[in-house]
Order: sequence, then structure tokens, then C-alpha cells
Amino acid sequence: MLLRFVRGALDRSPLAVRAVARERTQASCLHFPRGACLKYTNHASLPSTSAGAGAPLHFCVVGSGPAGFYATERLLKQLGSVASVSLLDRLPHPYGLVRTGVAPDHADTKNVIKQFQRAAQHPNFHFFGNVNVGQDISVAELQSCYHAVILAYGAESHNKLNVAGEDLRGVLSAREFVEWYNGHPDAQDLPVNLNSVQAVAICGLGNVAVDCARILLQKPARLEFTDIAEHALAQLRCSAVRSLHLIGRRGVTQAAFTPKELRELVTLPNVHVHMADDDLLLDEAEQAELKIMRMKRRIYDIIANAAKSPDPPGAERSLHLDFKRSLAAIHGGSDGQVEALDLEVNDLVRDPVKGTVRAQGTGRLQHLQCDMILGSIGYCSVPLPGVPFDSRKGIIPNSLGRVLRGDETSTPTAVPGLYTVGWVKRGPTGIIGSNLVDAQQTVECIKEDIGRLPPLRAHRVGAAALQELLQKRCCRAVSFENWSRIDAVEVSRGLMVGKPREKFTSASAMLACL
Ligand code: NAP
Repeated sequence: MLLRFVRGALDRSPLAVRAVARERTQASCLHFPRGACLKYTNHASLPSTSAGAGAPLHFCVVGSGPAGFYATERLLKQLGSVASVSLLDRLPHPYGLVRTGVAPDHADTKNVIKQFQRAAQHPNFHFFGNVNVGQDISVAELQSCYHAVILAYGAESHNKLNVAGEDLRGVLSAREFVEWYNGHPDAQDLPVNLNSVQAVAICGLGNVAVDCARILLQKPARLEFTDIAEHALAQLRCSAVRSLHLIGRRGVTQAAFTPKELRELVTLPNVHVHMADDDLLLDEAEQAELKIMRMKRRIYDIIANAAKSPDPPGAERSLHLDFKRSLAAIHGGSDGQVEALDLEVNDLVRDPVKGTVRAQGTGRLQHLQCDMILGSIGYCSVPLPGVPFDSRKGIIPNSLGRVLRGDETSTPTAVPGLYTVGWVKRGPTGIIGSNLVDAQQTVECIKEDIGRLPPLRAHRVGAAALQELLQKRCCRAVSFENWSRIDAVEVSRGLMVGKPREKFTSASAMLACL
């Protein structure tokens, strides 16, 4: 019966939609473990809505990454059977960064997908993959069919290095590189030729930089049985990379990476680690910081240990930790390919009042040969037509998740029925689990606002209305059942080569399974 529900969700006829709704109401508990069913709140305990007590509430979540999925799960759990959630994604597959951001050798982090799959079995859940909000449908149109729209579309771009030579061949963003090795459809044609790359420079000292460094430095055999994209594994097998410079504008105690990820990198058995002894010298304020900040202390100790450890026997690759260096220029050959870069040596300057530390250039330059540069200085979100956007902060302006409209001359006010969650709400920081807390905060706002959500006047609303609109526009939406079929094909392709899955790396290849 469950299969019929899901299929019915995309059946366009009014009769089918009504039949599905009826079946859902009758049998919603049958497909849930007893405990899971009991957890759903009785809507009688919630404030009555603009549509009246107990009337259905239709929510639309834009973006099916961790923030979008956690928000969906919270809404379905906490608002009870009155709530129905449509989860949209511009790609045919769900899960966003869990699928295309988390490194392939961090399989445990992807276990959260099981939790999302359980949420997707809820009878009031509707997935619409392959729907590009802003192109296939506008936010205003979504608002006309849903009581609330929750924007969870993350950060689809990256900060630019802003140095001369950035456009040379071989200069890429770490964001694109991560997408490339994770089989993201946008990055399938990224020009990566590792068999002609001996020296790599990665700018930035965050976990994304560490992920990229680990993927490039470790033996490809360690990735053979992961879900890494086939094209990336093939390149890594014939990689000529011998040295990798991880470059940060500030010092050891200001680095953004976390101890676990750092340890994994500097203890790779085939890699020797180099750094300047001076970089381990700390001023008084830094020493005091290490005493009270356990994480910074751990990072310092890991780096200090790595620096003094003897080179592992047979280490054929080197990792250079270049602290207090800023990228000053990138140089290329006549063929337009990157060949080298200049680094400016920095001093660290502490603000006497705030205690913050900034990098200040000394004018001294260092020259470094390199064949590939990855800029890893942060992701950034992009505006969506018709939605307020703070381009300085790179987020949708919001208060606890309520989207705010207004400019410098007026007090910002909340846009009724419009919410945000995840990186586009708070900026590109935090681990997957941070989005759970974030989603809960946004859902709390929605619950508080329930009586004030804008009423829906359209004849058809929610998933049925969206389905009809998309059908009129010949937009081929992918339901969760359809995604499950693509998923099964990926898993069976993986089985043949000993991997958990062999991902399709284009939307058309995914759609061809259906
Ligand atoms: P991030 O943690 O914010 O690190 C960005 C790095 O870029 C910092 O070292 C920063 O240095 C540097 N930077 C920023 N602007 C710069 C500029 N103009 N010039 C030079 N350097 C600049 O960002 P991320 O690595 O992209 O990671 C994003 C989030 O995802 C983080 O919260 C991260 O922990 C998380 N993540 C987690 C994992 C994991 O748990 N395994 C994996 C990947 C990502 P300053 O400190 O000097 O600004």
C-alpha cells in the first residue's frame, strides 16, 4: 500500500490525489514502527491555524540537504498529521552535502541518510527532485500553494581568491573539487588532470581544505571501496602528486580545522609532514588561550607531534603546512596553465580590545612552483529571485529563521510564511549535526506563527498544486519512489566493483533509470 501512496503522490488526476489522501489518512500508522507513530503530535494541542483548527497545513522546503531534511523531519514529527511537507531539490537526488560534500572515506558521517530515509516514508512527505526553484517555479508561486516556504538551499558558490592569475587553468575552488570527487553533476566536466600535477597548493585551513588534501595525498587503494566517483578514482590512481602545500594566512592557533580531521591527515602512512619550527612559537596570549581552549590545545599538539615525528618509512608524498602566508599572485605559462605562486609572509597582529588576531603582510615574498591550486576559503550562498538577501553576510536576512525584509532606512519585518534554515540562514559553518539544532529553531518559529500563516485561497494547494504546475511546464519531477529506483541502480552498479554505490554523475543518467 505504501508504494501506491508514493506513486499516487505524482499521479496527476484529481481522483488519484483524493484517493491517495484517503488511503493515507486510513493507513498512516500502518507503515510506521509503533514508537515512531506515537511520537507524532496530536494537532489538537497546537494553536489553530489561519485555515481553522485541524485544517491541513502545507509546507514546502527548498533544498534537500541536511538542513532541509532535518526541518522536514521536525515539521512532520511535531505538527502531527495535519502537516504535509513537499521537499524540493534542483538535482534528481536528495541529501545535498551528505551525498556530494562529505568525503567518500567518511562513510560513517553519511549514516544520517538512514534517518532521512525513514522520514521520507512518512505518508505526508512528498519529494520533488529535479525542480529548480527560481527557474522551473518561483518562490512567489510556491507561496501561493503552501502555508509556509522554508528556504534550505545552502551555499552553492565559493569565495574567490581575488588575486591576479586566478583564472589560469589549474586554479580551482575546493568546493568544485569536492563536488568532482563526489560525483556532483555540476562538476563532472571539471578540468582535473592529476597525471600532470606534481605540486598542489591549497589556500585555507578549514576542514574542506583538509578533506581535499587527504583525498589527494592518501594512497588511492584506501578509496577503492568507497562511493568516490569513478572518474575521480581513475585520476587518483594515476596521480603524479608528490607535494602539497596547505596555506593559511594566520597561525596554528587560529586554524579553522578540527582535531580529528587534522590528525587523519598528518598521520597518513605514506606522507611526511614539513613545517617551519618558528610556526610553533606562541606569544603569551596564545599560550594563555591554549590553556583554556581544549580544542586549540589538541590542534597544537597534533601539529607539534607531526612536525617532530620521523618520516614514515617509504613515504612518497609530502605535506607542507605553511602558516602565516597569504596568496599574493598566481603565475602561468604561455599555455595558460598555472605554474607557480607568490606567497606574502604575514605578521600576526592582535587587537588589544577584542583580542582577535589578524594577518598583516610584511612585503616579503616566497615563490612556490605548483601545477594546481585549490582555493578553500569558504563557501557562499547565492540570492534567489524575489527573496531578500544580505550580500555582505552572504545569507538570507532572518531572525531565528524568519525571513526579514527591509533596508538600512527601515526596520526589517518578517515576511509572512517565509523561513530559512541551514547555511543560507547562518552562513557556511558547522557540521551536519549543527543543522538539527538550526532546523529545530526554525520549526519553533513556524509553530509559534501557525495562527498567523497566510491563508491559501487557491483551489488546489500543497503537493497536488505543485505537481500540476510542474506538469504544465513539462518539468520532470522525481518522486522519492523514483529516487529509490535510481538509488537501487547505483547500489547494484557499486556491488559489481566492491563499492557501496557507483554514483551517476549526471542528471540525465539518473533520469534514464526511470
Ligand atoms: P572554514 O572552516 O570557514 O575555513 C575557511 C578557511 O579559509 C579558514 O582557514 C580562513 O582563515 C580561510 N580564509 C577565509 N577567507 C580568507 C581569505 N580572504 N584569505 C585567506 N584565507 C581565508 O570553511 P570550510 O573549510 O569551507 O568549511 C565549511 C564548514 O564545513 C566548516 O564549519 C567545516 O568545519 C565544515 N566541514 C566539516 C567537515 C568535517 O567535519 N569532516 C568537512 C568539511 C567541512 P581565517 O580563519 O584566517 O579567516
